Amino acid sequence: MPRVRWWKGQIGDCCRRAYFTLSVSQIILVLGYMVAVICCFVIGAELTQNSNRPGFIALAQLPVILLLSLKSPLPLPIFLPSLSYEHYNFLHRWAGRTLFLSVTVHGGMWINQFIRNDEMDQIRSDKAVRGIVAYGLMCGIVITSLKPFRRRFYQVFWAAHVMFFVGFFAAISYHTPYSRPWIYPCIAIYGYDLAVRMLRYRIKDATLVPIDDTLTMIHIPDCDSGWLPTQHVFLRIMKGSGIFESHPFTITNAPSLSPGQRGIILYAKVSGDWTRKVHNLAKDTSTIEFDVDDDESMIMEETQRFLENEKDDVSEVRCGSDHPGRKVQVILDGPYGGLKMDMGEYDTVLCIGGGSGITFILGSIEACLRIRQTRKKGPRRVDVVWVVRDISTIQALSPTLSYLHTLSLKWGLELNYNLYLSYPATPLPGIPSCLAPTTRLNPFRPEISQLLRESLPVPSTSSMAEHEHELGIARPTAEAEAEQEAGGGIAVIACGPEGIVAETKNAIANLSLREKVRSGGIAFHGECYSL
Ligand SMILES: Cc1cc2nc3c(=O)[nH]c(=O)nc-3n(C[C@H](O)[C@H](O)[C@H](O)COP(=O)(O)OP(=O)(O)OC[C@H]3O[C@@H](n4cnc5c(N)ncnc54)[C@H](O)[C@@H]3O)c2cc1C
Repeated sequence: MPRVRWWKGQIGDCCRRAYFTLSVSQIILVLGYMVAVICCFVIGAELTQNSNRPGFIALAQLPVILLLSLKSPLPLPIFLPSLSYEHYNFLHRWAGRTLFLSVTVHGGMWINQFIRNDEMDQIRSDKAVRGIVAYGLMCGIVITSLKPFRRRFYQVFWAAHVMFFVGFFAAISYHTPYSRPWIYPCIAIYGYDLAVRMLRYRIKDATLVPIDDTLTMIHIPDCDSGWLPTQHVFLRIMKGSGIFESHPFTITNAPSLSPGQRGIILYAKVSGDWTRKVHNLAKDTSTIEFDVDDDESMIMEETQRFLENEKDDVSEVRCGSDHPGRKVQVILDGPYGGLKMDMGEYDTVLCIGGGSGITFILGSIEACLRIRQTRKKGPRRVDVVWVVRDISTIQALSPTLSYLHTLSLKWGLELNYNLYLSYPATPLPGIPSCLAPTTRLNPFRPEISQLLRESLPVPSTSSMAEHEHELGIARPTAEAEAEQEAGGGIAVIACGPEGIVAETKNAIANLSLREKVRSGGIAFHGECYSL
């Protein structure tokens, strides 16, 4: 019974959010593609007599779908260097659905014709059977790609995608020899992607540190350039069964300006099997290895001290930034994506993060600090809104938040933390002592539109008018307008569950034109941690 309820919830969620999260421009693009494909196989075709045209159109879409699945950009003008795979992944999915539609029309019309003409033996012919097998494999791809399935069983989805596609190619190449000229480019495109990604693979040493019961810090020291904060890398840990999976994680820090100092810092929140395994591996102090070539005697001393303390308190494995960490080897694939806007052009930055979305926010703060450090100008204020379930994650990341605040004072940036607990404990826990006194902790979910209005670089017209009205001042509108200069612009960054990103988008859309103009312009970047 709970399973049924779970599936009901997932499917409802899909219909409400997953399939209606496209922006207007994306919807236009998808509709344009679908209409063009449908026109190609409908206009001037006698589908009831011969429905081969949708079949050929389906074949012609295969290279398009493969192109849209590429992680490595092609050296072509349409794959602009600034585009990362997450930007066109929605087109890959919708082109796949359009292909499924074409194949369904092709197969359905033939079967309909056989039934109408009483040619049932045709359905049992080798050609038809191979076509039906190919269609079955295509159905397998479609079913395992549905969002509830993909979210719940990501690795199965991925393996099924590859296996069903290989099977589908084999089946259609036997179904019709005309398919082969379309299959070879697909193999070439996939091979190109794999080759380029393998060239970019980097094998590195890393340290896994359990920051709290659900958060693991992954520090990759020997990696100082070639990436930016907010980009993500696919991480594969060369230990145990984790070796078979690679997962995306966002880079939370900026590269050091002097070489060999910071490396890459990632944070992985436990959300399923793999992240749990990584966390357990990090916590497992029983097999901490000492590197004999390592001259870092201080680290060894600290590790030994930690292990001795641990023996005294075997009942509980401690976590935290003083944990010596676990050394492992990792393979990095990337970086991909990241913030594409130049935050140096905005006076204010509003960062809204939900749960593990804070990693993108940390990267954004680092990016702002780097702009101020190198250009001596850029954003003057960064307002951070972070919504989390409970205080433990805030406590775990408070040293990092505090470190960023110290840097912000150094580089003349006003950094405000507004923290929100969605499941607050009673009594409300205190703010970690290392955080700046300006930090606010609230035991409720934030009203994003209100926070956005508060962050706008100049007071909004409505609040000004209200204020003036309260004071009984009646001034001509032109005079009031002339007194207000446009602000320096605001960049809004939202990262986390789809709900929080959508709410932020809506809050921006609901601002009046005047508010947008007065603020000096609004830029938005949304990032959801799900594919
Ligand atoms: C671009 C991007 C950046 C991310 N950055 C961070 C980060 O900085 N910190 C953090 O804690 N989490 C981040 N995530 C989420 C993180 O990748 C998943 O939590 C992790 O892969 C879960 O794996 P699991 O097996 O433990 O959990 P599962 O229960 O298997 O998966 C939990 C969720 O993660 C998705 N997921 C699983 N495997 C993958 C994969 N290989 N690729 C994409 N999605 C997957 C699933 O669809 C599901 O929705 C990011 C995700 C994306 C897409």
